[in-house]
Amino acid sequence: MAIVGIDLGTTNSLIAVYRNGKSELIPNEFGEYLTPSVVHINKDKEVIVGKSAKELLIVDPDNTVSVFKRSMGLKKSYSLRGGKYQPEELSAFVIKKLVEDARRELKEDIEEVIISVPAYFDDVRRKATKRAGEIAGVKVERLINEPSAAALACRMEEEEEDCIYMVFDFGGGTLDVSIVECFDNVISVNAVSGDNHLGGSDFDDVIAKYICKELGKEYKKLSKQDQSIVLRKAEQLKKKLSVDREAEISLDLDAVKGTVSLTQEKLVEISAKIFSRMKKPIRQVLNDCEFRLEDISKIVLVGGSSKMTVVSMYLYYLLQKDLFTSGDSDETVALGLGYYAGMKSRNEDIRDLVMTDICPFSLGVDTHNESDIANPYFSPIISRNSVLPISKWDYYTTAHNNQREIELNIYQGDEYYAKNNIHLGKMSVKVKPRPAGEEKIKVRFTYDINGILDVDVEVESTRMTYQKTIVNKELGLSDKELQKQMEKLTELKKDPKSKEENQYLITLANALYRETSGDVRNYIAGIIDYFDRVLSEGNEAKIEHIRKRLMVVLSNIEAGLFDFSFDEREYEEEEYEEERMFIDSLREELDTDEEQLYIRSLTKEPDEEEK
Ligand code: AMP
Repeated sequence: MAIVGIDLGTTNSLIAVYRNGKSELIPNEFGEYLTPSVVHINKDKEVIVGKSAKELLIVDPDNTVSVFKRSMGLKKSYSLRGGKYQPEELSAFVIKKLVEDARRELKEDIEEVIISVPAYFDDVRRKATKRAGEIAGVKVERLINEPSAAALACRMEEEEEDCIYMVFDFGGGTLDVSIVECFDNVISVNAVSGDNHLGGSDFDDVIAKYICKELGKEYKKLSKQDQSIVLRKAEQLKKKLSVDREAEISLDLDAVKGTVSLTQEKLVEISAKIFSRMKKPIRQVLNDCEFRLEDISKIVLVGGSSKMTVVSMYLYYLLQKDLFTSGDSDETVALGLGYYAGMKSRNEDIRDLVMTDICPFSLGVDTHNESDIANPYFSPIISRNSVLPISKWDYYTTAHNNQREIELNIYQGDEYYAKNNIHLGKMSVKVKPRPAGEEKIKVRFTYDINGILDVDVEVESTRMTYQKTIVNKELGLSDKELQKQMEKLTELKKDPKSKEENQYLITLANALYRETSGDVRNYIAGIIDYFDRVLSEGNEAKIEHIRKRLMVVLSNIEAGLFDFSFDEREYEEEEYEEERMFIDSLREELDTDEEQLYIRSLTKEPDEEEK
């Protein structure tokens, strides 16, 4: 009985196993590792998955579907040969096919599968993925975040110890950039960012338009069928340019005829807008994570579009970091899953390897909307991308005069209006009837990696407390496990302020405040205030980092050395500063004509390009 890992991709899916002391990909019946995530139902109502189904996308588009992963967990169904199928059912066909390939290749039964999901997948989408496994008739042992799996692959292949990676996952239609920390036996996704509408198909579009323009035609004016043929040719040209500096394609349609050649340089030039968009999530993730660019050891390339030479060159120029590709960037996640499966089968290892995580969605409550009472706003308490476990709180007040009760609705999501998020539960909190805004409640959310959300409410005037625990039932925790997890949460709920080391800093700062005057005193007041704010954010790693830095500053002040070396704005802006310097340094460092061409194109703003 084997344990396998499945990378259930939007465009292609892969399956891996750990054997012969390493992670190995399992080939399909064509001897290929990539199985297109495409499903077709034929006249005899047989399900065809993979390469053969992909061929039928053009011939019989009505009975063939692809890119359904994007709708995973959403209320959407696809019509195929008269039947309606949800994205998880279509994914189940893919899983089933991969598992059959694995059975055939390994000549043994599959005991468990581990499936990777994007780090930003919310609860509903994760549940839908698990359900896809269940529908396929396999036991889904665990869902692993794709960047964690990619980082694991890099770490194992490169035999590295503690390290921080940037995982750059550039697929057919999405870009996900994550910062992943590997420390001892913990792999943790520290921050994620991305663009859900940027991928290889954007290059295909740009190239298709370029081809038509070169042949004196307008892409928009072609028939749908001709457009899809030109797009296929454009994709071929793009792939050739991942190997060669220059490539060409020929078209022989009634509407467009001729041969067009394209160089890598020209590709960068016509895709300036795509490069410009690519930069944004990179900036964002560096800004959101707890690390500086210098701390990052490598960029792990994931996804088909990371194979593009122009993309990897751009990343290298932009970040000046070594790039890791496990041979083929669209195999990286599967490779990591194979390593994970190996650890899982050797029980002793897996116990050590705890994958900590980030919260892929925000958690919060509804708040009064004066202009539309029936449509309250969503007020996040734990914001998306927070490092787990986390405990944070916020204050809320009454909205009406003499209000006796506050009804708190708890939501998960990132939508502006509460009702557009996922409703998790409700609490009624009694308050004193007083003028609007005068009754105040403190709402604390504590959330851990296992999906247990603890909500604690305290009414300031009466000191009455309320508590509610929301459990992600899909995890199927036993009572004992649940108890254990909840005990862990209770430990976490300790106010960071009450922790001894933080208390020490506060006491020291207050003592120094009392002892000093003038500028030094104001400076210490600033430190107390700032540390307070950092504590209230509840981010343990940040608290520790700041505490260490502040301790040095306070110790110096105590020793009579008035060291004003800590500037909170400087701290907050450090990462931005590095970002700003990227392009400048590129301009200075690169001087050949060819490289300058890249940089000119990359730094050109999209609007300028269009003018
Ligand atoms: P993924 O969603 O990760 O499977 O990525 C699919 C995207 O990668 C599609 O847009 C492909 O055109 C693109 N892709 C795959 N192989 C290559 C290659 N060798 N060079 C450039 N793009 C590629």
